Amino acid sequence: MNKLVLKGFLLFGFCAFAQNAVSEKDFKSVEQKVIDWRRDFHQYPELSNREFKTAEKIAKHLKSLGIEVQTGVAKTGVVGVLKGNTPGKVVALRADIDALPVTERNDLSFKSEVVGEFQGEEVGVMHACGHDTHIAILMGVAEILSKNKDKIKGTVKFIFQPAEEGPPPGEEGGAALMIKEGALKNPDVDAIFGLHINSGTPVGTIGYKPGGTMAAVERFVVNVKGKQTHGSQPWGGVDPIYIAAKIIDGYQSIISRESNLLVEPAVITVGKITAGVRFNIIPESAEMIGTVRTLDPDMKALIIRRMTEMTEGLAKTYGGAATIEFQNNTAITYNDEKLTEAMLPTLQKTAGVENVVLIKATTGGEDFSFFQEKVPGFYFFLGGMTPGNTEAFPHHTPDFKIDDSGMLLGVKTLTAMSLDYLNKK
Ligand SMILES: [Zn+2]
Ligand SMILES: [Zn+2]
Repeated sequence: MNKLVLKGFLLFGFCAFAQNAVSEKDFKSVEQKVIDWRRDFHQYPELSNREFKTAEKIAKHLKSLGIEVQTGVAKTGVVGVLKGNTPGKVVALRADIDALPVTERNDLSFKSEVVGEFQGEEVGVMHACGHDTHIAILMGVAEILSKNKDKIKGTVKFIFQPAEEGPPPGEEGGAALMIKEGALKNPDVDAIFGLHINSGTPVGTIGYKPGGTMAAVERFVVNVKGKQTHGSQPWGGVDPIYIAAKIIDGYQSIISRESNLLVEPAVITVGKITAGVRFNIIPESAEMIGTVRTLDPDMKALIIRRMTEMTEGLAKTYGGAATIEFQNNTAITYNDEKLTEAMLPTLQKTAGVENVVLIKATTGGEDFSFFQEKVPGFYFFLGGMTPGNTEAFPHHTPDFKIDDSGMLLGVKTLTAMSLDYLNKK
């Protein structure tokens, strides 16, 4: 290669990169706004399926940027469509927008004093999962990308999703309803990205994992039917409490004896048992509710099949009858392996190679998984703990806290991921 060719190659390489990159000045110009938005959302949180003012603020911002906006998707969801200057693929970015029935205990200038109603009770309302940061980050990304349409080869879809924490009983909501109402269609989404802020990992870091990352969450209800009798004469009836104990024991053997735990972890928890009225009556029935957490589709199928067999079979063995019903709350948050691999250099570029950490799966659930069932998706964790701290309060607790300075990396990363995905050959 002679010198002239080399010079030309370098110049071309530099231009190709520069064309694709948003200037640091653009990011800096949006940082304070992102912090202000986040603090406003934090101070005025709204519960799942009740995110009316939150949605209004989001829609107003997107419209001010000239982004095409659809409101009222899955009740309070907002979808924005930003077309780049050249046609191409469609990438979606998703932020969840709901808060939780938690009373804030932090001493912050923007602390939530909001009171709401949850299942008929008056409750404090708090962004105790950090979704306020997700909204603000995505609003920042929207602002930056709308000013850089010349760099977008394709379309970016902004999905602001309500009710990630689950809709109130009896209502539909969340990612599943957004999909049902067409959030991934028209224009059809090719890939979707999302993030979750994390109170326990330091600002400036990103955690990711290919494949099963967060668990599929099932809720189950077991009804055991026995035959009522005097507590002193168990032979005169069928004891549903004893059967329930046998069933619980059976469930745990599915995990410890039948599940290949080298593939992924799995959990079965019975969280509540209801049966009986007094000490000397063997009751007619028992009810149990609980949850199953799985990270591998085959393991999930096995566990559900074996729980059903054990519930029915064990009850029959002991002379009673039992049924089990499963309700699926989230699918497996499954990071498409190819997409994860393709996006890794982008994460490393924005955070620095040493700050991008391969993590283990978690047994928590996330309804972003429903989008990933439809299109390839990638979901990662963004550090939100003040640098130097070693301990943090967990998500969903009154003392939960996020350091604002962690959000800029989220803005940069989602922006760069969008551009890199759309511009890749
Ligand atoms: Zn949460
Ligand atoms: Zn969350």
